[in-house]
Amino acid sequence: MTDLREPPPTGAAPAGVSVLAVDVGGTKLAAAPVHPDGRLGELVTRPTPDGDAETVWSALAAVVTEAIGDGAVSGAGIGSAGPLDAVAGTVSPVNIPAWRGFPLRDRLAALLAGRPVVLVNDAVAGAVGEYHHGAGRGVRAMLGMVVSTGVGGGLILDGRVYAGNTGNAGHIGHTIVDIDGDPCPCGAHGCVETITSGPAMVRWALRNGWSGAAPTGVALAASARDGDAVALAAFERSARALAAGIASAAALCDLDRVVIGGGVARAWDLLEPPLTASMGAYAGLAFVRRVEIVRSELDGQAGLLGVAALVHDPEMA
Ligand SMILES: [Zn+2]
Repeated sequence: MTDLREPPPTGAAPAGVSVLAVDVGGTKLAAAPVHPDGRLGELVTRPTPDGDAETVWSALAAVVTEAIGDGAVSGAGIGSAGPLDAVAGTVSPVNIPAWRGFPLRDRLAALLAGRPVVLVNDAVAGAVGEYHHGAGRGVRAMLGMVVSTGVGGGLILDGRVYAGNTGNAGHIGHTIVDIDGDPCPCGAHGCVETITSGPAMVRWALRNGWSGAAPTGVALAASARDGDAVALAAFERSARALAAGIASAAALCDLDRVVIGGGVARAWDLLEPPLTASMGAYAGLAFVRRVEIVRSELDGQAGLLGVAALVHDPEMA
């Protein structure tokens, strides 16, 4: 992967020293020191503020400063909502409109007095976390997925991150599973995300007569557990699109395992049975059928642990 093969500006983090893991999302900012054995130190979070670019940066800088406290860190890893440009070190998160081409990597490096900073997509960070510490242990080729308000993904191939030349490979949410499907915010239509994401499931259910307590994924899951036919169908439809995307990715990349996290995966009891059934329909070739699909073990911590692993072990990137 071209971007992260470049050596960090001041060399790799020395062993035995904590690094700082930073998670930048549309709803919250988080940071924590991560010890070399993978343990997370005290996590600091705060909501992502509205406002201009500097307002958002000030909030993040405060989170980072508080997370470091009196301790010392040898470097930092950032998992950021995308898209991003890993070569330039800039981010343009869809859900943080104030940041367009924001030079996040350089700003954080300056705050840390020039210590090395690695920047990856948050779904890539999550995949690396699961690979080292969670449900991805023991395989060589995996896709980590986050199924939530959007659908993200990160690839690990032959034991190394494959993020592509701009840091954006693995965007399984924008692979196309319905050639006549609904428009997607990305500009295409029929993407996995247009069917599988939490908001897409809720929209479909409402269009088909569901009337839950609130227009949310949590309420939809509650209705499905109560046996509501439309809610159950929304999960079944989401799982079919997910299976189609996973089978396609497995055919393309010869995957050993897919690890699924994010809010929709918290309803694993509802998602897993139709997902397994749909894989029976979409996974034909033996090497595609062998892909294991499992739930995230780390859930909200996967990204923080993943970026820390990348700072500790730049060879993986
Ligand atoms: Zn799309």
